[in-house]
Amino acid sequence: MENFAEEKICKYCAENLRICEDEGLECSTCRSHVHVRCLKRGSVPGGLSGDLFFTFICQECDSSNSEVFSRNKLSWLQVITLVLYHLQTKSLGLARKGFFHWRNHVATFIDRNWDILFSGDTKKKKKWTGTIAGTLSHFGSYIFLSGISTFNEPAWWTLMYPKLSPFAVSNLYALMTLEKQKAKIRNEKRVACDAELFQNILPVYIKDEEFLQPFNVTNAQLLSDVKEEIPEVKKNSKQKSGSSNVTKRKLVLPSMGGRSKKLMRLENSAPLLSDELTTNFNIPDSQEKPQATPKSDTKNVKESVKLLDPFCHYNTSLNNISRMKGLRMQTKITGGMRVEQILSPYSGIYLKPYIRRDAKTYPTWLRLMAELQLVANRKDKDYILPPRAPIDYTYVQPEHIPAINSICNQFFWPGIDLTESLQYPDFSCVVLYKKLIVGFAFLVPDVKHTENYLSFVFTRPSWRNCGIAKFMIYHLIQTSLGKDVTLHVSLNNPALFLYQKFGFKVENVVLDFYDKYFRSDVTDSKHAFFCRLER
Ligand SMILES: [Zn+2]
Ligand SMILES: [Zn+2]
Repeated sequence: MENFAEEKICKYCAENLRICEDEGLECSTCRSHVHVRCLKRGSVPGGLSGDLFFTFICQECDSSNSEVFSRNKLSWLQVITLVLYHLQTKSLGLARKGFFHWRNHVATFIDRNWDILFSGDTKKKKKWTGTIAGTLSHFGSYIFLSGISTFNEPAWWTLMYPKLSPFAVSNLYALMTLEKQKAKIRNEKRVACDAELFQNILPVYIKDEEFLQPFNVTNAQLLSDVKEEIPEVKKNSKQKSGSSNVTKRKLVLPSMGGRSKKLMRLENSAPLLSDELTTNFNIPDSQEKPQATPKSDTKNVKESVKLLDPFCHYNTSLNNISRMKGLRMQTKITGGMRVEQILSPYSGIYLKPYIRRDAKTYPTWLRLMAELQLVANRKDKDYILPPRAPIDYTYVQPEHIPAINSICNQFFWPGIDLTESLQYPDFSCVVLYKKLIVGFAFLVPDVKHTENYLSFVFTRPSWRNCGIAKFMIYHLIQTSLGKDVTLHVSLNNPALFLYQKFGFKVENVVLDFYDKYFRSDVTDSKHAFFCRLER
């Protein structure tokens, strides 16, 4: 067997190929090698990092003078190694301490990229996700590493040797299996287990020790960046049932009294409001209360009832308590961020990863954080605030859903499940600061022939009054070109003024619209205006 790890020469550029570092494909005709980076098409089909699992014909050998790729049949070990390697290279931000969730990250990725990973005739078996979990734990002692040792989370996994490429792992595993068979033929009493055999084989083929470094938590730990947001969540969860009362919320907003000079300077240099729409909005705190879509059985609103039923999302599989218990705090407040484009099942187009990235606006919460940093460093006269992460406007992604549902349950009413919005991500806007979900807004498309319905708009209390909701609504109206946009808003919700500025007109009043949904402590009117923006 040829040594897979030996250095080879690239046919196109005449430089060396190096295992785990600068790999390439072997032409099945002339047996020469080509760097992935030297391929005429710039990358392998599908573009997965470390993906060499193709049968390849180089440009010179192909009769029509083009490179030919056909997908090899992959084992589940190869698929999962490849996916984890790609995720750690391209989407490390999704990880927790360097680990990925086997279902939410690995299985979801495989599901979305099935056609890239498998040749055309491979069908999904019924229990394919179970196979992923099984493969991870089967190789859990030497190829994969479970999060259980690091943070007691059995569902999270990473690569034991993160720098070994999938191609190297696959070859090493094949060599290990070969060794085992040889030992069997020689009738040897097997002393070494698979993990030992594998570890023995590693240094024989991989000479550069750098690639043999096992996963190291401390390096990956830098990635968990949600710590600073946690105090706010604690505060909210303490409030329990009274949590949606507007006046109470105002009291718990961080006080901004006594700003330092440094902070004032910072404010002067960065505009606080991102007023790309208009310049003189002045909307009270409660502007971004829910414009929600509960069912109503009141007789005098027949027409609206027909409209509303389809967009009430009820998660009936869990009651509210078990739902809250089942979610870890981090899941409740955070959502991931992927940097690849998202394919919309609704329109079939690829949505860009960001709608907008805003590094200038300073909402109350960030100002408070900046002020704390300044106080902490007050002895250092030359201290300058480090630049802050942008506020990212993105389309909804599966990673956001647990946190969004949890926020809806906390701020609106129990039972809301927005999973369905993943069917039409084009009509969503999720605002993230690092991984914290700051706000979101959803449209339900095509509720009538030429009508989209604005179902939920939310911004975290200490992130209000700086144009976040305004931008989300603006974005959603923009995506509804040529279609009316409709919504319901509580009679005494000042958000009505915002909608009116966008051109929404009140069409009728729906009595008892929110009757069953608002908690008894909520002072908002149960009646709603039905508003329409005509296009
Ligand atoms: Zn090359
Ligand atoms: Zn060739």
